[in-house]
Amino acid sequence: MTMTPPPWHRPHIQCHRAVEPGVAPAAVPSPGTVVPGPNGDTVVYVGDRWTATAEETHSLAAVLRHARTITLVGSLSAGRPARQALYDAWSAVRKAERAAARPPAPPVRGLCGQPRRDGLPCTQRSGWGADDPDGPCRYHGGSTAVREQRREELVAQTELWVELTTRARTGPLSPAENLALLVAERAVRTASREGWLR
Ligand SMILES: [Zn+2]
Repeated sequence: MTMTPPPWHRPHIQCHRAVEPGVAPAAVPSPGTVVPGPNGDTVVYVGDRWTATAEETHSLAAVLRHARTITLVGSLSAGRPARQALYDAWSAVRKAERAAARPPAPPVRGLCGQPRRDGLPCTQRSGWGADDPDGPCRYHGGSTAVREQRREELVAQTELWVELTTRARTGPLSPAENLALLVAERAVRTASREGWLR
């Protein structure tokens, strides 16, 4: 049985301009002080200016994550950016958690399964058009003939890329050459990403 955590609700944040009127400035807690109250209503002192680093903001966001409401006490020019920084920190954490919770697609027996250009696993049959019936498909390194052809293309594109980048140092390239450079660069990058440059 898998345990599903209860849904998380972003705490409500309000800004409070001043401490109580008549409180001596020396009695105001220093910026960053967190005072947990009853029922998860938490007070955070933010001072006159919000100067927390990203790291400090993330630790504060982690501490405050399960508060019900948060009152930021200080000047508005501290409270508003603090509120935004907390919202941003929680969004980043939530995004990372959702990404981590997504299970990686298990390799499916009988399918190629190699990463495609879009990052998803290839759904072509194992060994389709390839030398090894249980290996990757023809397009994902399974065919010696295709591999050789791609290697030749890659060598040509790499040579072209070197030639054009060298020439670009001495003068402007024509639009057609610029396009060719772009195509060559992309071919080299793709090959590198897919492991063709081993
Ligand atoms: Zn494939």
